[in-house]
Amino acid sequence: MLLSVAEAHRRVIERARALPVVEVRPEDAVGRVLAEDVASDIDLPPFDKALVDGYAVRAAEVNDGRPLIVGEEVLAGRTPTRPLAEGEAAVVMTGAPLPEGADAMVMVEQAREVGDGRVAFDGGPVRPGQNRLTKGRELRAGEVVLRAGTRINAVHVGVLASVGRVRVEVVRRPRVVVIPTGDELVDPGQVPGPGQIRNSNAGMLAALVRSDAATGPTWPITPDDPEALRTILAKALNWADVLLVSGGVSAGKRDLVPEALTNLGVEPVFHKVDVRPGKPLWFGVGKARADRTRPLVFGLPGNPVSGVVSVLLFVRPALDVLNGGRPAGPPIERAMLAEPFAHRGPRPTFHPARAQRSAEGRLWVRPLDWAGSPDLRAVAEADGFAAFPGGDADYPAGAAIEFLRISV
Ligand code: AMP
Ligand code: MG
Repeated sequence: MLLSVAEAHRRVIERARALPVVEVRPEDAVGRVLAEDVASDIDLPPFDKALVDGYAVRAAEVNDGRPLIVGEEVLAGRTPTRPLAEGEAAVVMTGAPLPEGADAMVMVEQAREVGDGRVAFDGGPVRPGQNRLTKGRELRAGEVVLRAGTRINAVHVGVLASVGRVRVEVVRRPRVVVIPTGDELVDPGQVPGPGQIRNSNAGMLAALVRSDAATGPTWPITPDDPEALRTILAKALNWADVLLVSGGVSAGKRDLVPEALTNLGVEPVFHKVDVRPGKPLWFGVGKARADRTRPLVFGLPGNPVSGVVSVLLFVRPALDVLNGGRPAGPPIERAMLAEPFAHRGPRPTFHPARAQRSAEGRLWVRPLDWAGSPDLRAVAEADGFAAFPGGDADYPAGAAIEFLRISV
């Protein structure tokens, strides 16, 4: 019996390990998982800080109603030279420190110079603490602001800068190599000759993993030849954390990839999964390298749609784990069929489909006209794949099904 998708997924995830930790600049850490707790080296803000341009005052004195004496001026980047005297208001710009003794800021728009070096306020009562950010209100020195396991986003880059971090420990980004194989393949810039087809897989597979991985330069098309395969696969196994070999894993005369891989010490884990498209999928684990990591090796069936489905079901969940994320199942959503569908065939099938969410939050899925695993065109119009169990069945509109979304 063929391996189920769930079991194949389990066997992949079981062999995926978070990659070693590296130190990078915060701006290079976006999308990656933090490997340390980050604490602040200072209080934030580091001083009582004005949130508006205006006057630093004692709230009670303003509320007494008498005009105040205009005191010293504090620009951003400067510090007050003395505490606020009684009956005085200091001129303070946004971001500058309030003088000692001041407990509030009144916006310049609510102040009026009344001559004689005095200022009156007509914005109503002033609350202590108004328009002032107290020292340490955001964050205290020593307080942890980002925890290990956080996936760094753009805002985190700002936080890291404000707590003085110019380097940060993250899980190393997985390196993915895509190797297209097949005697019939030509580069996309060429017009295929008799019996040839364009290599549509390489760029697409790399693009499918790029949000989770570094893909490096494009690797050349490799012919169905044991020596050529050996040379290129050996090289790729040195660098890649995940190796995606496209083509050459089915039952054809020139399907030489599994043997080439095992000859290079890649330990086979499974070959063939009970799924359409993608049945010939091969998976194994390469030898340990100096840093003790072992590459995960996927032999993807050459048909383009098989490659897409295999990456969504198996490769991307594995990359999540390599990136330091928690193991999770395939990214399957619950959905309803928008129209009747007749499924034919013994294998569980991922059928290209459009999806639309209704106002009530239900995901309605409409299967597209699709010619099978070579037909990428239908997938280009799809939002993902409607999943049907193996076996002939007629599904009515409204039937509950599962949906595999194409993201990126
Ligand atoms: P294979 O897995 O090598 O048996 O290939 C299965 C089918 O996918 C064949 O029709 C191949 O021509 C096609 N194919 C293989 N590699 C590619 C590729 N890189 N781009 C597009 N089609 C491919
Ligand atoms: Mg082939």
